[in-house]
Amino acid sequence: MIRALMEKSLVLLKPDCLEGRKCGEVLKRFEEANFEVFGVKMMRLSESLLREHYSHLTELPFFPEIQGFMQSSPVVAVALRGENAITRIREMVGPTDSTVAEKGTIRGDFGKDKMRNVVHASDSVENGEAELKRFFTKDELHN
Ligand code: ADP
Repeated sequence: MIRALMEKSLVLLKPDCLEGRKCGEVLKRFEEANFEVFGVKMMRLSESLLREHYSHLTELPFFPEIQGFMQSSPVVAVALRGENAITRIREMVGPTDSTVAEKGTIRGDFGKDKMRNVVHASDSVENGEAELKRFFTKDELHN
């Protein structure tokens, strides 16, 4: 028997998610897809945390715009786990550009454009582990 892998992902509910009052809807989708919330907190992203989190983007010309957006309000950081969480959560989220994301995906249903795309979700098992360590202390997570 092939055993599905239990994986962990950091999901961030971005400022547009809070402003559109979609936090409950987004979390409901993840819980109904059988993912477990094992950590959650509202936080303001410091410049250093944001630069670490988006280190692959800091040299891009539109990074200041992304920074302005991500710091325009607090975000909600969510630790999720479940079978094949990385791939399945990214599928539920949809591609970066909300305008091409299919209806039924979170970005397709609630996103506006490439930047205002509702949620972040870890893109690999390694990044999931690293991002959760970056955003949560051990005490803040369920066993
Ligand atoms: P994803 O969040 O889909 O993994 P990236 O890691 O490439 O995508 O980008 C991180 C975030 O930076 C995106 O979710 C989006 O908010 C913003 N972003 C990425 N590319 C662009 C772009 N071309 N224009 C504006 N914002 C962008």
